Amino acid sequence: MKIYDIAVIGAGPAGCMAAIQGAQQGKNVILLEKNDQIGYKLSLTANRRCNLTNTATMDVFLEKFGRRGSFYRDAFSKFSNQDLMNFFKTHDLELTEEQEGRIFPITEKARSVVEVLEKVLNEEKVKLISNFRLKHLNKISHVFKLASTKGELVNAYKVIIATGGVTYGFTGSTGDGLTIAKFLGHNITDLKPGGVPLLVREEWIHQLKGVTLENVGLTIRHSGKKIDLPRGNLLLTHFGVSGPIILDMSHVIVGLMEKHGDLKLYIDFKPEIRKDALGIMLMEDFQEHPKKSLKNYLKHHLPNNLIIPILNTQSIDPQKKLNQITKKERLQLQDVLKSLPITLYGHLPMDKAMVTCGGVSKREIDPQTMESKLVKGLYFAGEIISGCGGRGGYNLQQAFSTGYVAGVSAAK
Ligand SMILES: Cc1cc2nc3c(=O)[nH]c(=O)nc-3n(C[C@H](O)[C@H](O)[C@H](O)COP(=O)(O)OP(=O)(O)OC[C@H]3O[C@@H](n4cnc5c(N)ncnc54)[C@H](O)[C@@H]3O)c2cc1C
Repeated sequence: MKIYDIAVIGAGPAGCMAAIQGAQQGKNVILLEKNDQIGYKLSLTANRRCNLTNTATMDVFLEKFGRRGSFYRDAFSKFSNQDLMNFFKTHDLELTEEQEGRIFPITEKARSVVEVLEKVLNEEKVKLISNFRLKHLNKISHVFKLASTKGELVNAYKVIIATGGVTYGFTGSTGDGLTIAKFLGHNITDLKPGGVPLLVREEWIHQLKGVTLENVGLTIRHSGKKIDLPRGNLLLTHFGVSGPIILDMSHVIVGLMEKHGDLKLYIDFKPEIRKDALGIMLMEDFQEHPKKSLKNYLKHHLPNNLIIPILNTQSIDPQKKLNQITKKERLQLQDVLKSLPITLYGHLPMDKAMVTCGGVSKREIDPQTMESKLVKGLYFAGEIISGCGGRGGYNLQQAFSTGYVAGVSAAK
């Protein structure tokens, strides 16, 4: 039976890049994919526009991957954001930069990215087998034996597992690779969701679904500690909160909720002004416009559809004139404008998260090669590796960079 030099499992961005690199080094590469197409999840990224990477510096990239982010220093140096952009440009896909250094294909179609990968896999003569779902992997002397759920068999000297995480399972990322890695002796760190909307207890928030609170300050407090989140937009939904800040910070918040239970998230509607200065402003405004209704006045400070629900939480009559507001009520208003508390109690299910934070322990992977420290000739690439990055193109860069390193190293 034929023995391939390299078998790559999973044709997402990590697996495709690994297969391309292996083949470019002159190796006989087979790419096994359980779907009938490559890059299904990739084709859905950023609302099908694909935020491919980011122009950020190495330091920012490492920071985006949290505590053990420096694991990726080698991978991001060997195949950087610039290298990834050049790869697509040399294959005739122009890119464009948007806010905060985010890079997208100029076509605004994730499909264009998938098509480039398809074309290059074909040019490099990678043997692509679709509808092959890997079930078993074991190594007998120097050869890996790969068996599919339908009983098909493939032999290879090296294997790269790039089967992704466990979110958006319908795209194929159902955690098969994690089960196989575990079977081969690897530790799998806790699988937590990253980039996931959060659940809020207060029902009045649910009624405001679709409302975006622009440029608000957000703070979390627990056990006497205060954590300031970056300032930005907060999207209210029929179950709680989402939007860029929440999606970026959800893995941290989910970790805190697991430890401490419910958490209070404080919304600052006036982050540009200090609380004492806001107090003075309210006092002066109330004196200047005594006959104005509170409801109308608050339009300067709050989105229209939030005024009544927030006043209801404070039991303050929205129709009151400013000269009828008591000192206690004015101080209450000052408080809610600077720190309206809402209660976070959970997150949407794992399958609705953008990424899986958790996977094959980084301690068991050589960061220079992506080779397993436990099984020689076995490599990991992409989201299957423990940890996750923030939004902004960082996760796809991680998939392409680790795929590149695994492909090149496996070919050596
Ligand atoms: C809705 C959404 C939007 C996103 N947007 C962005 C974005 O704009 N920018 C960004 O950087 N990141 C984004 N991400 C994250 C990004 O898509 C992933 O981090 C990335 O796809 C991971 O790549 P991967 O190759 O490791 O895994 P995947 O893309 O998950 O690919 C794994 C492949 O392995 C296959 N497979 C699984 N098990 C088996 C098996 N047993 N046998 C054979 N094949 C198997 C799967 O079918 C799949 O094709 C987004 C994620 C989601 C869900």
